[in-house]
Amino acid sequence: MVIKMETYPENVLLIRGTEINYLFICPTKLWYFSKGITMEQESEYVDLGKFLHERSYFGEEKEVQIGSIKIDFIKRGNTIEVHEVKKGKSMEKAHEMQALYYLYYLKVLGIRAKAILNYPKLRETKEIILDGHEEEVEEAINEAERIKSLSAPPSPVKSRKCKKCAYYDLCWV
Ligand code: SF4
Repeated sequence: MVIKMETYPENVLLIRGTEINYLFICPTKLWYFSKGITMEQESEYVDLGKFLHERSYFGEEKEVQIGSIKIDFIKRGNTIEVHEVKKGKSMEKAHEMQALYYLYYLKVLGIRAKAILNYPKLRETKEIILDGHEEEVEEAINEAERIKSLSAPPSPVKSRKCKKCAYYDLCWV
């Protein structure tokens, strides 16, 4: 489902949720991704499809594109819930910031919502609310913009994350 927007508020809506996620995983990865270099070996959407099938979230809006963000699925009740499906918690901070960015984005559009991170393999969920995190999100947006504007990727820093990163060869070979 794609929600077309007539007007785009300035600045914040040009950043994708994945870019905020990558900012907290690795700035080098964010830079490569923002230049259209996508080499992910294993897509989270495989997990998403399986999860949605298993849990039978029929009637929910799935893979909702709003401007530059794409939400795994949305539940509508008294409060709108945006759901993200993740494989594991090793990148939990990145997941949380991505969810907070979605909530911030929706708030700019005048939509109040909460986010739920789903970890189907762990059978866990985590609720995320925006209150008190606005400044943190704004700092992340500014930092992501700064990295995206660089003419060369930030120098890679080797870590355990590199092992499973699709950009490994670009950084280290
Ligand atoms: S290989 Fe390591 S340094 Fe390079 S983009 Fe991936 S996580 Fe970042």
